[in-house]
Amino acid sequence: MTTLDAVLREGFDAYKRLVDDTEPILTALDERSGDGDFGANLKGGLESAADRAGASDGLRTWNALSEVFLDDVGGTSGPLFGLLFQEIREAAASADSLEALLRDGAGAGLAAVQRVGEAQPGDRTLVDALEPGVTALRDHEDLALAVAAAVDGAISTRDLIARRGRASYVGGRAVGFPDPGAVGIALLFVALGRASGLDIQPALDRLIRASDGSGSGIPEESPTTPEPTAESELNFVLDAATDARHPLAALSLEERAQVLETVADALETHSEELVQIAVEETHLTAGRLTGELGRTSFQLRLFAEVVRDGGFLDVRIDPADPSWPVAARPDLRRSNRPIGPVLVFAASNFPFAFSVLGGDTASALAAGNPVVVKAHPGHLHLSRRVTSIAADAIRRAGGPDGTIALIEGHDNGVAALEDPRVKAAAFTGSIAGGRALFNIAQNRPEPIPFYGELGSNNPVFVTPDADADAPEQIATDFIASFTLGAGQFCTKPGTLFVPTGSAVAKALHQQQLPGAAPLLNDNIHAGFQKRLTELRNAPNVRTFRAEGDPEANPPAPILLHAHGKDVLNDPELYLDECFGPAALIVEYDSHEQMLELARAFPGQLTATVFGLEDAPADLLDVLAERAGRLLWRQWPTGVSVTAAQQHGGPYPASTTSQTTSVGTAAIFRFLRPVAWQGFPQNLLPAELADK
Ligand code: NAP
Repeated sequence: MTTLDAVLREGFDAYKRLVDDTEPILTALDERSGDGDFGANLKGGLESAADRAGASDGLRTWNALSEVFLDDVGGTSGPLFGLLFQEIREAAASADSLEALLRDGAGAGLAAVQRVGEAQPGDRTLVDALEPGVTALRDHEDLALAVAAAVDGAISTRDLIARRGRASYVGGRAVGFPDPGAVGIALLFVALGRASGLDIQPALDRLIRASDGSGSGIPEESPTTPEPTAESELNFVLDAATDARHPLAALSLEERAQVLETVADALETHSEELVQIAVEETHLTAGRLTGELGRTSFQLRLFAEVVRDGGFLDVRIDPADPSWPVAARPDLRRSNRPIGPVLVFAASNFPFAFSVLGGDTASALAAGNPVVVKAHPGHLHLSRRVTSIAADAIRRAGGPDGTIALIEGHDNGVAALEDPRVKAAAFTGSIAGGRALFNIAQNRPEPIPFYGELGSNNPVFVTPDADADAPEQIATDFIASFTLGAGQFCTKPGTLFVPTGSAVAKALHQQQLPGAAPLLNDNIHAGFQKRLTELRNAPNVRTFRAEGDPEANPPAPILLHAHGKDVLNDPELYLDECFGPAALIVEYDSHEQMLELARAFPGQLTATVFGLEDAPADLLDVLAERAGRLLWRQWPTGVSVTAAQQHGGPYPASTTSQTTSVGTAAIFRFLRPVAWQGFPQNLLPAELADK
């Protein structure tokens, strides 16, 4: 072995040891800015190369190293590291010193990495460590200076906002921590410096301190504290979403469908990890969350089918007609196009199905829009991981950068909603919050559509005949429905109307209520307690059933009771939504009073009737005026994702009663029709041209 060859082998061994030691740090850094696999990929690649090389000399070892990284190591950076190792190996054949070898080899590697990845210095990538290292060698031929420059370059990425790669999607949370790829490169320079006998310890200490904050490991995630997106970063995210509009819309429908399917696949690939995070953040059970994740990926795939079908473009073609009444008709062709970047306020109560990749995002993406998600503070860690996984999948499927991004912080939600680059918004949450945001959207200089799904009581009416017919069944199923997910469903049946002397009420007395369960977060617990107290203090409301303490934390489910005439004296007090495991039974004393009670409701997501075959048509008329979905002898929790679904009703159920936030019709919220008059075939959108 030549001396240089021995240094190369020793450098490889030193690099492998360093990466073994720092793998947890690299992983934690990548969890902030990517999908968390960088440390494992680098370590695994070095182990495979060591196995393949055995006790070979330096050149053969670097051969194995470049082959393994080019062929086998996954992630975005695996092949880029492979290119760098290959160029260093090539240069080693003719170099006479380590400085010259690195100057030429790492220099060629830098060019190759930039050619493939298109990153510039300052983009927060491995280039930020590689470029200063190479420059120091070119200018000074001094390895110690190169090691210091690479380490400084890696550390400098702490303050940079990512412009490329996965890190560019995940918001400001990566700022303050170096880019893992850049740290991986700095470690390579350190290892080669150590192999050539330099004292690299001060540089290594500096790098480790900057990477893990204290030298004692990465600071814990603080999932409950949003890291408000910096102003410059919000700007970057909105610019990126704006820039992504045209390339995203330019994908063929088949390509767009494949983007959605790749995202669905990625969600399922990571399901175990994601469900675990969600359990920790939301108190929901693993079983419920696994089902919800399945619903979310199904929803993405269903929208892929909608995209392929193309019907949502709503193509209308009216050829010119000189004999058209009144005046000759010009050639007019109309179809739907994406409305522009969409802002989605994620909901707390469905951390998958109504959050980062929920129905709002799926329908907005299916319509061809980039999406910026305002994370719900109740599941931040999950939101970050899901965004990172989605961004990675979108990129792999050929979608443009900027197609999805996450922002955090109350004020940033408002700032984004006010920003002229956002062209529509969707929201699921409280009436107060949704109304405040709706007002902001309407009061912008350029008002935009704001699709808020707010509160709903979801009344259930039992007619006297049905009450007598199957009281036990209705009682059992009502309890199961109002306590599902600890009552934290927007479709929870909040009030059950039964006739005076009801058999259902008697049956409810015999039934067991489920045990206490923790609510999603402290805010929701506090909101539940406040509203429950209000309800319990309403005139003549009494506790009907409660087996534990509904005021404890976690709260036991509770059933309350009131009379129809009291409710009619102050409907809002009795009939506003109570989000959590509580419901009210109201006894009505006549058909007319039942109708009056139904009329007392404002807009609802759902209304349910338990009757026998001869339905009370007048009741159905009243309810159809108020609710988006009517149910006959079924329970409203469980909102099927289908073409005929309607999840939205008159205010305050929704801010826009003509649309739905669940089901494939949700896509129409994020489209805008454009008519083309008199255009030649070659200038028309593809769907409008003659076939
Ligand atoms: P929320 O308080 O309405 O918040 C939902 C999202 O909107 C959060 O990201 C929140 O940001 C943002 N937001 C709310 N008001 C805002 C305002 N005025 N300005 C700017 N941003 C605002 O809903 P939640 O946290 O999910 O739950 C609170 C209550 O909402 C529940 O107790 C329940 O009553 C109701 N809720 C209803 C449904 C339903 O489907 N009907 C679903 C969930 C919740 P920040 O958190 O950062 O402020």
